[in-house]
Amino acid sequence: MKAQLLDALRDACGDAAVLADAASIEPYVTDWRGTFVGRASAVVRPASTEQVSEVVRICSDARIPIVPQGGNTGLAAGATPLQLRDAIIVSLSRMRRIVSVDADAYAVTVEAGCVLADVQQAARRAERLFPLSLAAEGSAEIGGLVSTNAGGTAVLRYGTMRSLVLGLEAVLPDGRIVDGLRALYKDNAGYDWKQLFIGAEGTLGIVTRAVLRLFPMPRERVTALIGIDLSETALRVFSHLQTMLGETLSACELFPDRALALRVAYEPGLRRPMAEHAWYLLVEATSSLSTLRTAAEEAFVALDDAGLAGAIVIAENSAQARALWEWRETITETEKRTGRSVKHDVSVPISAIPEFIARATERIERDHPGVTVLAFGHFGDGNIHFNVLVPGATTAVVDAISAAVYEMIADFRGSITAEHGIGRYRRNELLAHRSIFEMDLMRTVKRALDPGNVMNPGAVLEE
Ligand SMILES: Cc1cc2nc3c(=O)[nH]c(=O)nc-3n(C[C@H](O)[C@H](O)[C@H](O)COP(=O)(O)OP(=O)(O)OC[C@H]3O[C@@H](n4cnc5c(N)ncnc54)[C@H](O)[C@@H]3O)c2cc1C
Repeated sequence: MKAQLLDALRDACGDAAVLADAASIEPYVTDWRGTFVGRASAVVRPASTEQVSEVVRICSDARIPIVPQGGNTGLAAGATPLQLRDAIIVSLSRMRRIVSVDADAYAVTVEAGCVLADVQQAARRAERLFPLSLAAEGSAEIGGLVSTNAGGTAVLRYGTMRSLVLGLEAVLPDGRIVDGLRALYKDNAGYDWKQLFIGAEGTLGIVTRAVLRLFPMPRERVTALIGIDLSETALRVFSHLQTMLGETLSACELFPDRALALRVAYEPGLRRPMAEHAWYLLVEATSSLSTLRTAAEEAFVALDDAGLAGAIVIAENSAQARALWEWRETITETEKRTGRSVKHDVSVPISAIPEFIARATERIERDHPGVTVLAFGHFGDGNIHFNVLVPGATTAVVDAISAAVYEMIADFRGSITAEHGIGRYRRNELLAHRSIFEMDLMRTVKRALDPGNVMNPGAVLEE
């Protein structure tokens, strides 16, 4: 059976596109953090939509589970075949063509395997901006970013992937190709079915191509780091900057000194960007207008006058801006080096962030001596990565920590995952925190599109 299936897949995509030996498969079945290791019969690397369609048809007819995979940087084990028998991983990484850039239509059409950094660069060459930006942008691929409805550092101004996708092409779980590759900004012709695939984590079909929205390339950019002593102050700083800088404010990231201290510990010789403060806000404003820097400097002076900022460092050039961003973007990598951590990618109303962080930190560190909370994230989106460093903790302790965090999230009517998604990692939490009716709605959609349950079974919903 297995040999027949592999032969059929080789016929569809070519011999070199099918990896079936354990050593070649190993990187594909291990998640980015190295925490989850699954099993697969083979990895198939199709080179076109037609080949994806053929692969899906073969697997679907044989009732073989399919796990779509992009850059494998996801943080919810959605692309890792855990507890699946004979799964086939369909890697889109060979499909990395920028199909076209239409600067006048503010749209770029790409294949699903395009790496985010390459799409940003293609847009830049056409003097346009593709605003999605995140620390994994050198590896994460468009299909994965669409399928996780990725957020990143500019959601405040440009929204998540959901608002950046104009059109989509996908292969359905029975192998049919649905073509909605339209570069339209307005289109009310019936249900907007592409939205179903955005954030579906590969459970409803395989995204093969996308038309993405571009923006004018900002000519001015101001990046600043603001040191503050209390997390409550972050709310007042954010509100002040929103009022003074309006829509030009594109990022507002919060992180604690603990994050800086960790990085300094791993990179001796590295100096903090400013004197120590309990918290930092990294803010960025961008505009096509040459008056931005003056407006931003006025806003920072007013912040200072109001006693809201302990210190402010404004980047003088793009190298300095990059260095400030590195403090934020290396947090996840540095955290990985500390060993085990329990990750919570939660969201609450922006106004509740300081209270949530304070209450949750106090409770977790009191109830579990020896653990350290590392809370940071996209303040302007209400999205906090409430991670807990737990050296040597048992599974029971880890579970108790997560249960407490999610209980508090429910108190604030927040979400158990703001941007990383459910995957296989948070499936039980989804069941516990969404109503029976909402779960039934999701199962109805899944059954309608994938009655044989071949497309990424066990991700998001129970198998
Ligand atoms: C250092 C670091 C920083 C990160 N920062 C952010 C951040 O700021 N914001 C954020 O939102 N995320 C962030 N992430 C998470 C991750 O980068 C995103 O989830 C990204 O969208 C995953 O893309 P990928 O190509 O690696 O997808 P994968 O990990 O390969 O897959 C993710 C999910 O999408 C599905 N999938 C992949 N390709 C397809 C396809 N073509 N069709 C259908 N389904 C598919 C998979 O089955 C899986 O369920 C970060 C990750 C890391 C490691």
